[in-house]
Order: sequence, then structure tokens, then C-alpha cells
Amino acid sequence: KVTMKFGSKNRKRKQDDHDFVFVKMPDRAAFRNERETLPIYSYRDDLLRAINDHRVLIIVGETGSGKTTQIPQYLHEAGYTAGGKMIGCTQPRRVAAMSVAARVSKEMGVKLGREVGYSIRFEDRTSEKTVLKYMTDGMLLREFLRESDLASYSVVMVDEAHERTVSTDILFGLVKDIARFRTDLKLIISSATLDAEKFSDYFDSAPIFRIPGRRYPYEIHYTKAPEADPLDAAIVTVLQIHVSQPPGDGDILVFLTGQDEIETAEEILKYRTRRLGSKIAELVICPIYANLPTELQAKIFEPTPQGARKVVLATNIAETSLTIDGIKYVVDPGFSKMKSYNPRTGMESLLVRPISKASADQRAGRSGRTGPGKCFRLYTVHHFCNDLDDNTVPEIQRTNLANVVLILKSPGIKDPHKFDFMDPPPTEALLKASELLYALSALNEHGELTKVGRRMSEFPLDPMLSKMIVASDKYKCSHEIISIAAMLSVGNSIFYRPKGKQVHADNARLNFHVRDVGDHIALLKVYSSWKEADFSSQWCYENYIQVRSMKKARDIRDQLEGLLKRAEIELISNPNDLDAIKKAIVSGYFPHSARLQKNGLYRTVKHPQRVYIHPTSGLAQGLPRWVIYRLRSTCGKSPN
Ligand code: ADP
Ligand code: MG
Repeated sequence: KVTMKFGSKNRKRKQDDHDFVFVKMPDRAAFRNERETLPIYSYRDDLLRAINDHRVLIIVGETGSGKTTQIPQYLHEAGYTAGGKMIGCTQPRRVAAMSVAARVSKEMGVKLGREVGYSIRFEDRTSEKTVLKYMTDGMLLREFLRESDLASYSVVMVDEAHERTVSTDILFGLVKDIARFRTDLKLIISSATLDAEKFSDYFDSAPIFRIPGRRYPYEIHYTKAPEADPLDAAIVTVLQIHVSQPPGDGDILVFLTGQDEIETAEEILKYRTRRLGSKIAELVICPIYANLPTELQAKIFEPTPQGARKVVLATNIAETSLTIDGIKYVVDPGFSKMKSYNPRTGMESLLVRPISKASADQRAGRSGRTGPGKCFRLYTVHHFCNDLDDNTVPEIQRTNLANVVLILKSPGIKDPHKFDFMDPPPTEALLKASELLYALSALNEHGELTKVGRRMSEFPLDPMLSKMIVASDKYKCSHEIISIAAMLSVGNSIFYRPKGKQVHADNARLNFHVRDVGDHIALLKVYSSWKEADFSSQWCYENYIQVRSMKKARDIRDQLEGLLKRAEIELISNPNDLDAIKKAIVSGYFPHSARLQKNGLYRTVKHPQRVYIHPTSGLAQGLPRWVIYRLRSTCGKSPN
């Protein structure tokens, strides 16, 4: 398969080959040792001085150099948390926020959620004592709505800035503004990529602090011809590496596009290694993706057992957000799932697209962190050179901006059209967003935030979903509507459809359908029946419902209930008035309505387009005259 090699000639290997003697040490001391071997450690004092001397500092350092885990600790040790002020560190990904907070709390020898905590949408693991707070960028954005000078923070570190999520981009504009009048606030923008000048320019020529990486050379291998089935090619490559290289010489990291692909790859790898049996060394398979249950996430960091090899099946999350030690081989099929938005139709979707050159290089770089590595690109060198964009387009230029505009219309923020964007979104997308918010009565005809809009902005949800909740006040069914909103927020994983039992599962699912009232009411029925069964797990098994998803829905529902008061909505239950419940739903979702045509198909109203009812929907048999729909793609990671 090898067609080309790249050496990394000018990256010098550091002389750090010592003979180690292992002595059992108390945990914190062991961690201290580990902390002191990170590249960032030798710059600790310089770094603290630079932060002291400047209000805004751009920090650039290779993934794994210790930015995320160490800088907040250094600042804490240097007294920045005196008087209970917090150091906030934002992450574009929930898993990264959780996992890094867990790691730092261990390094500091404190319980997670006390001095070190994290805050992600619908999950707040912080306390009065918390001084180091890891959070998603979206959460800090929401905190800004409540505390527009971020007074609880002495330092805000916008980490993984190169990811350029919408929330990070908006935060840039907001913190830049705050830093101008809050002279005591320190602002750190940290990134894993080298083009830091752009950040520096944006932040009024802020100085750039570079942490030289410690990188080993790595080879890049391309395929001779394009791969028809990249997933299969990835699996074959993993097995080839595993059987041809001695176990113990290094682990494998594979970049896949999402949970589905990861689960498929896991299944096939398990099947094929089982067939090879004891002829090959053990292959420990570790998946990692955003929705992986927390208890399983830590597995990727566990040391590989002697004589075995670990293969990590990851989404983009392992590109720069998480560093896994011991990776020697990277397998890169060259794709990722990306949001894409069509301002004409207002449709947002998640599409599998080729990655950018910058992404491909980050991925390859993961192989040379703890020793010389190899990256297998499952595409041709021609494809790399000619087809891939240099950089990924910032999310703000390819997303639905309704939420952004709602936030930017909040008191204390300037007109979105005048907002200081690092890369402005298309004007058409901004207009579309304002138009939708106007239709939802969140903005008035002058484009100002209305009372409805203000109440909507209390909910960390898609505006149509927030509007549905606000409308439930009028229709006196908030109790039911927040259950529906919670069930919708969990995503697509409520119903369980195990292999070999699909018919039973489908029948169980049909039990929740009330003729002609639609899937929202079915979700409500699932939730209320579970509640009647005292939230029993047994009940879930019997009804082919995923317990874990239901527990998540219950958590989310509790939090939404807590937010009702802030939005001045009374908690009222009205379970039998399905019409009232449907009216509240339609108040939020009417922009997504479709009408039955004579030919038995549906046509959307706003931007006429032919659509179908999904066969799993309870409405697929009945074909009502009018339906409202919800786009599935919005259950991705944003808005946090
Ligand atoms: P950076 O932010 O510069 O990419 P990090 O601070 O995330 O670097 O990582 C520094 C070191 O801490 C790495 O060697 C990484 O393996 C380790 N580390 C980070 N998070 C965890 C975790 N959750 N469990 C174990 N080790 C971790
Ligand atoms: Mg980091």
C-alpha cells in the first residue's frame, strides 16, 4: 500500500531516554512526576509571567503538551483563584470537558465536582468550592446571559480555539469586549494549530506564546487507488497492523465519522479477531464518541495490558481534544461528519464530508507523540493534494444561526449585523435566522427581543423547542410539554431494536402510538408510563425502551422544570387535553409544516419540497392532512 513517505527531518528528537526505576508512590506524587514531564512544564514560569504582563495571551502548543490540564492548575497555584474567583476553561466538546476535569481533579487529589468541576448542557458537576471549572463553550455563553461581565472569573481560557465552533466564535467577540473594561480579567486563547496570527490580529495584536512540542518523526502512507469502502479498508488496515507488528510496540487510533460507524467497526473487529482466536495477540477495542456513556469513556485512558494492543475507534474528538498516550499507528479514512446549512431552505444537516488538510495533519500528528509513528491515510496522495481544502470552514459559516441571533439580541450585546465576528457568517443566514425568530414572536418588527424571546432564551434549546415550552404556558400544559422536550433532547435512542427481535420491538413501539396524534404524544406516553411504573428498569426492558436514555430524559426534564420559573412559566399538568398539547407543539414547529398531496406524498409549506413520513413514525399508516416535522440532524453536539 505504501506509495510515499514523509520524514519529519527538522523535528529534533529530545534526549529523554533514561533508564527508569519504578517505585510505588502515593498518587499525587506520581502525578506530580508525570506533570513535570509534560512539554509545558519547562515553560511554567515564563508562561505565568506572560499572563501576568498581558491581559490577553494567545497560547499555541501541540496536542498533548499540557495546555488544558496544566495551565489552569498553574494559575491556581499562582494565586489566581484567591477569594473564590474561578478559572474557566472552555472546550468545544462535552466529552473533553468531562474527561479533562476528571483528570485534573485526580492530579490535584480532590473529588470531582468540588474544587475542580465541569459544566455541560444538562449536567452541572460544580459546587460552591469550585475554582477550576471546565465547561463547554456553549455553557459559558449561557453564563454570559446571566452575568454579562463574567465577574465570577479571574481567568477565562478559551481552549481549542482552532476548532472554531459557533459558540467559541461568539465567545471571542464577547470576551474581547469584557477584557477591555474588566482590567482584572485575564484572557487566554489557546490552540493546537500554528496559524495563531489570525487570533492575535483579532485580539488587538495580543502576544503569542508558543510551547515547542516534543514530537517524534512519523511516516505517512497513502493508498495507491481510492478505497470504495473506507470503513472496511480501515478495519482491514487495523488487522494488518495488529498481526504484522509485535504486540506491545504501540496502539492504534482510527478516525471514524460517528457512533454508527464506530459500533459497526467494533462489531466486525470483534468478530474477525474471535475467528483468528489465539493465533493473534489480544486486541482491546475502545470506542469513544460524544454519546458514549460516561463510565465507558475512561476506558481509552487505561493502560494497555501486557502482550495486548489497544485500538481506539474515535470520532474527531481524538484529533486535538483528547490525548491518548501510547498511540503509534493512526488510521485515517479521511472523513468527518460536518454540519451544513442551506440558507435558502433553512435546512441544516449533518453530512459526511472529506476532512481538510489541516485536519489530516492533526490526525497524522497523533501517531508521533510518544515515539516514532505511522499514519495510514486511506486515500491517495492525489486526493490529499488536490481535493482537500486547506482548512475547515468555521462552523458559523455553515449553520443555522437562529440560536446565535437570539443570544446576540440579549441585553448588553450589539446588533448581530454589527457584531465583531472573526469570520462573519453569510448575511443571508443572519437574515433567515431573524426571520424565523420574528415568526416565532421572539423578535418584534424592529428586530428587538420581545418578552417571548427573552423567555425563550432561558432554555438551552433550539428556538423552536424553546418556543414550544413558552407556548405551553398559554395552553396550560407545561408539565407534559417539558416531558416531550426532554424526550426530544435525548435524541434517537429511546427505542431499542435488538437484532432478531425487531418484530417484538416494533410491536412494543406501536403500543405507545395513539391513532392520529403523532410521535410527540407517543414520546409523552412512553415517559408517563415509565413514571407510572416508578421509573423501573424492568419496565423498560419489557417495552424495548433504553433505560439509559430514559434516565437522561428524566435528568433533562428536571432541569427544564427548574428553568420554568426563570421563564415565568407555571408548571401545570393537563394530560388529557391532547389538543392543548398539540397546539403548544405547533406554536414552536409551525415553520416546519407539511401538507398531504393528492399523490399521497407530503410537501413542505415554507420552501416547497417533497418529503416522506419515516416508516418508524406512528403516522406512517394514517397519513393525516397536515404534519409538523423536526429535523433529526439537530441532535448533534451543538448547541451545547
Ligand atoms: P493539551 O491540552 O496540550 O492537548 P492535555 O493537557 O490535554 O494537553 O494533556 C496532557 C497530558 O495529560 C497528556 O499526556 C494526556 O495523555 C494526559 N491526559 C489528559 N486527559 C487525560 C485523562 N482524562 N486521563 C488520562 N490522561 C489524561
Ligand atoms: Mg487540550
